[in-house]
Amino acid sequence: MDFTNQVVLITGASRGIGKATAIEFANRNATVVINYRNNEAAANETLAALPGKGHSIFRADVCEPEALNSMIEATVERYGKLDVVVNNAGCSVNHAIEKVEFEEWQAAWRKVIDTNLIGAANVAFFAAKQMMQQKHGRMVFVSSRGAFRGEPTKPAYGASKAGMNALSQSLAKQLAPYNIFIGTVAPGFVATDMGVQTLSKTEKEAIERECPLKRVAKPEEVAYSIAFLASKGAEFSTGAILDVNGASYLRT
Ligand code: NAP
Repeated sequence: MDFTNQVVLITGASRGIGKATAIEFANRNATVVINYRNNEAAANETLAALPGKGHSIFRADVCEPEALNSMIEATVERYGKLDVVVNNAGCSVNHAIEKVEFEEWQAAWRKVIDTNLIGAANVAFFAAKQMMQQKHGRMVFVSSRGAFRGEPTKPAYGASKAGMNALSQSLAKQLAPYNIFIGTVAPGFVATDMGVQTLSKTEKEAIERECPLKRVAKPEEVAYSIAFLASKGAEFSTGAILDVNGASYLRT
């Protein structure tokens, strides 16, 4: 997989899976735009970790459509095109129905759907407009195993990722005639801030037992699958949702 002369924008690339994905693409000769929301220091650390030249960082909250439009415009202004977008930024909120009152329930739904689904849809909108004009492009969505097996204590998260799967597959059909190809990864638990924050030691041990490899994924393992779906040669996999869960949950 080689991304020489390709411009790759990754949302939520200051930390976790997004950061590993930025490194993966840069190692394969891409020019990378690192999007982040608040953590500028972490975004700069990602930037410093990338081999090669010409990479940049761009602050934009995926919940703010105008900022997303500006980010895509600035990318095209600087680099002349946009080859790959990775829709990775996301959040996860615990709101187990037994534990929350309606206000908290509703706030969790709004935040998670706004970020994970509507944010991703808006990034896709501005990116697709540019890609349709240039008549090529790739998008990869970072979904979750939770879309398939349920998220009992985070139902909004599971629903947001199920919605993302449907979004990505709809766009795969609509955009293929424009030479734009769409892939989705569905990781199980990954060793990132998001995972560490939400899991106790006992929960982590239980999750490790579910996987025949007896461990969770490294962010780099998800990044590799993202790069594959964005690579030349993966065109006919458009619309695919690739499990990256170490056989912890097998669907047919
Ligand atoms: P993470 O370590 O918590 O990092 C989240 C990243 O997203 C950060 O770069 C953060 O930026 C950015 N972000 C959050 N909200 C944003 C917003 N509104 N606008 C722009 N950027 C925003 O998360 P992660 O574990 O790497 O997760 C990345 C993706 O993988 C998410 O979509 C998540 O749902 C999915 N996923 C994760 C797991 C897992 O177990 N970790 C499993 C399956 C799927 P700042 O640094 O500026 O805050």
